[in-house]
Amino acid sequence: MIKLIAIILLAISTAGAGYFGWTQKKSSAAATEQVAELTQQVEEADKKIEATEEELAASKEKLPALMTKAQELEAVKAAFASGMVLKDLEAAYAKEKKALSTERQLGLAGVRLLTNGTKDPATVEAFQKALEMTDWKGQQKVICAAQNALAAAGEKVKVMSECQPEAGPGKGDSKTGSKGAPSDKAESKDAKGSDEKKNDKKLDKSAQGHAEAQPVHWEYEGAMGPENWGKEFPTCGRGKSQAPLSVKGPYEKVRYSLAPDYKQGQLKIVNNGHTIQVNVPNGSKIRIDGRPFELVQFHFHRPSEEHIDGKPSAMVIHLVHKNMEGELAVLAVMLREGNENPVIKTLWTHAPKNAGSEVLPDGVMFNPASLLPKELDFFHYDGSLTTPPCTEKVKFYILKTQVSISKEQISDFPFKMNARPIQPSNGRPIYSN
Ligand SMILES: [Zn+2]
Repeated sequence: MIKLIAIILLAISTAGAGYFGWTQKKSSAAATEQVAELTQQVEEADKKIEATEEELAASKEKLPALMTKAQELEAVKAAFASGMVLKDLEAAYAKEKKALSTERQLGLAGVRLLTNGTKDPATVEAFQKALEMTDWKGQQKVICAAQNALAAAGEKVKVMSECQPEAGPGKGDSKTGSKGAPSDKAESKDAKGSDEKKNDKKLDKSAQGHAEAQPVHWEYEGAMGPENWGKEFPTCGRGKSQAPLSVKGPYEKVRYSLAPDYKQGQLKIVNNGHTIQVNVPNGSKIRIDGRPFELVQFHFHRPSEEHIDGKPSAMVIHLVHKNMEGELAVLAVMLREGNENPVIKTLWTHAPKNAGSEVLPDGVMFNPASLLPKELDFFHYDGSLTTPPCTEKVKFYILKTQVSISKEQISDFPFKMNARPIQPSNGRPIYSN
């Protein structure tokens, strides 16, 4: 029952925010675009449902009337209209004295809408605030949820084509949600951590990304290939600072350097179906312009995703780091065909041939520092995860010095092609130290 209410509440709150977003978009496309550029936080529907459930659970005791009436949407609406839910929710939030999360902001906005209608200035303000906290992906998601929910409720509303496959608000949300992000995600998720957290949590998920089985399927070719990632993961299709880029001059000069301090630890390696990834135990760090980032995981692409002077290398290693603020930085080590690489030999010996869970080979220690060349001069640009959900604000540092890998080692890598195509630069500068 609580779940049912949660889903209904979620649908309603996203509907309200989405409807507002939709009308805003029509009346002021520029403003919406600006909002989209301001933030890149992606809403995760599952979390939203969870959060809503928690909120409802917390106020459950106070709301017996709502509980018994909640079987039907009409009953829920009646409860909202009485003002009881809004009052309770506001009181509960006021007690916390903290800034509201985006989810709560949206929820509160939705409840205000149901209680007071769209003419209440506080409702509009609440939605505005919620929208400012939500990026384009989140906006599109709520717009879809809104349109579907309103349509389901019998309202006359135009449902955008992007929203139509999603049968219901709950479903739509979860699809768009977070679980999908994986690798560069690896940038995404699996590793230990995470990439980014929504601020934190979200990022975390992403960073870890590669490793776990993802509920939302994607591939490197065909119907689920990179050209179509944007259908399930809007940032992949609409983002303006996506990675990889083709690295070429003119470059803007920067004067700082990279200072890795990686530690040896138990090897933890996984074939996650998209790449081979090594999850790194805590304690390996890099300083970038003096700012510390923790190494979370590294993984491989074949061929390299980055092109330098128009050409890819045989492969690339992406070492994914995250700082205390949840920002991601990827150090890319390009691998060119040449001599056998003894360090990669160790990794390939233990890398599972087929997708599955992480393995910890008995007594095998590994130090990621052994993968790096001596010279750490780099090219740098601001990009994104190169796998869904393509979250932006990921800093890339591509080492100028390449490392060798033998032809046999290249062909032993179990993925023939796992590189996202080059993305539009949109005027982004490329830096060089
Ligand atoms: Zn990668």
